Amino acid sequence: MDGLLTFLGTGTSMGVPTLGCHCAVCTSTDPRDRRLRPSVLLRWQEHGRGGARERVVVIDTGPDFREQALRNGLTRVDAVLYTHSHADHILGLDDLRPLSFTVFREGAPIPLYATPETTEVLERIYDYTFSPQATYPNRARVQLEPLQERNMVHGVEFVRVPVLHGQKEIVGFRFGRAAYLTDVSAIPESSFALLEGLDLLVLSALRYKPHPSHATVEQAVAWSRRIGARRTWLTHIAHELGHEETNSLLPDGIRLAYDGLSLPVSLGAVGLEPAELGASNQGTANS
Ligand SMILES: [Zn+2]
Ligand SMILES: [Zn+2]
Repeated sequence: MDGLLTFLGTGTSMGVPTLGCHCAVCTSTDPRDRRLRPSVLLRWQEHGRGGARERVVVIDTGPDFREQALRNGLTRVDAVLYTHSHADHILGLDDLRPLSFTVFREGAPIPLYATPETTEVLERIYDYTFSPQATYPNRARVQLEPLQERNMVHGVEFVRVPVLHGQKEIVGFRFGRAAYLTDVSAIPESSFALLEGLDLLVLSALRYKPHPSHATVEQAVAWSRRIGARRTWLTHIAHELGHEETNSLLPDGIRLAYDGLSLPVSLGAVGLEPAELGASNQGTANS
């Protein structure tokens, strides 16, 4: 089974251009230097008795979610997966409302998969949505679901990949032969085993200068080599990195992603043990 991964946003928390900044990247006319807050979309066809239907999962709903949904013609969301509770990853939740009404009419709220820590923050900020006492009639029809090690969403398995964001443990995701790891400053040794046999790796890389809670380009390149994915795309990019110039300096197989970039991903190997994922995707059982 194949899916399509689309970058809704590839910018760092402040976005690019950064407000008030007149640097070369913030004033660039290259559209790939304009970066909304970080998020990706995965779409695939689920084949059931009623025929095929498109399924759509979003990883993180940042403050640019509405604009991203408009740009990418998003008309439904079947689930949201959250990496962590920082503002640039959650503050678009309320814009799920109109899409959630559609899904709710089909029978259920949109599930939002989150860790206990992220759940607590979402419940606090969106009290009028999640509180049992909430009476606001137009609240989003969404339901928080505890994030498991493996999460099955309409036939696609999303494996939780723990990573560190400064002192904080946050969540990356593996799905089929792809993985999305954002806001990473360190990858625990045990998580590398979950990243074997990847075709496509998305890794955050803020800039060249070190930062306490984000990887530099150099660190991301080193992890990319160790993980050995066929292609690595960098995201969560600050205004220090111009698209064209940075790409000309990156090694083969590693490139900066940009908003709107779509890439095919193989989702065929879900359900297998991590160690088997790389070797077992030749068959047609899941295609
Ligand atoms: Zn972030
Ligand atoms: Zn700037």
